[in-house]
Amino acid sequence: LVAISGLHRSFSLGHTTVKALRGVDLKIHAGEMLAVWGPSGSGKSTLMNMIGLIDRPDTGNVCFKGIEVLALSDDELSDCRSRNIGFVFQSFNLVPVLTALENVMLPLQLQGVGAQVARAKAQGLLDAVGLGAHLNHRPDRMSGGQRQRTAIARALVADPELVIADEPTANLDSESSQNVISLMRELNRDTGTTFVFSTHDQRLLDHVPRAVQLRDGIIEHDQECAQ
Ligand code: ATP
Ligand code: MG
Repeated sequence: LVAISGLHRSFSLGHTTVKALRGVDLKIHAGEMLAVWGPSGSGKSTLMNMIGLIDRPDTGNVCFKGIEVLALSDDELSDCRSRNIGFVFQSFNLVPVLTALENVMLPLQLQGVGAQVARAKAQGLLDAVGLGAHLNHRPDRMSGGQRQRTAIARALVADPELVIADEPTANLDSESSQNVISLMRELNRDTGTTFVFSTHDQRLLDHVPRAVQLRDGIIEHDQECAQ
């Protein structure tokens, strides 16, 4: 699904240059679930932004479904992103004035899908993430874990092939964090959607089939775990 090779990405900060990624090779197969983990500043977000077609490499190749990212215009890239990828954020990014159901329906409605179809789809996904009884709750009435479950349902509503979650558990307690990762694993198994999440918390890797460890912009380990 994603093939990255020889990836370098630097950022200039005033007079200095920070090398965020320094030669990364990574293949992600359709249907996989993998974690990108490493300490703060190791390049996780930079790599997640490459996999999620938000950013482009300075040098190296990023291929998404066989398409070379550097060959695409900005419009083509964002079109490819919105058709294929769903996102889950550290800070949930739900719309505060909308209910859980309305939040999950929103991406479909923005695509022009009718309200009835969007509602049915959103309701099914909220059931699947265990929030069938909270459809009409606004984010301020939900716990952090419930908000992130809503965000996961929203990320899946347009049937993406890939879901990218950069530090989805950074604002959750450890029990909710485990639950969110288990939920993503369950959805990965049930739907075949590819999930990539990042974390600095090694305790979350126990039930994840593959963990890619970053250190100083380089992949230090790429480990398939027995399940
Ligand atoms: P964290 O766990 O804190 O989120 P991270 O592993 O996600 O860290 P990155 O955000 O990818 O790390 O950052 C890697 C390095 O690149 C850091 O030194 C960071 O300061 C730098 N960096 C990342 N994005 C930018 C940017 N837009 N401008 C300048 N420097 C950046
Ligand atoms: Mg980060």
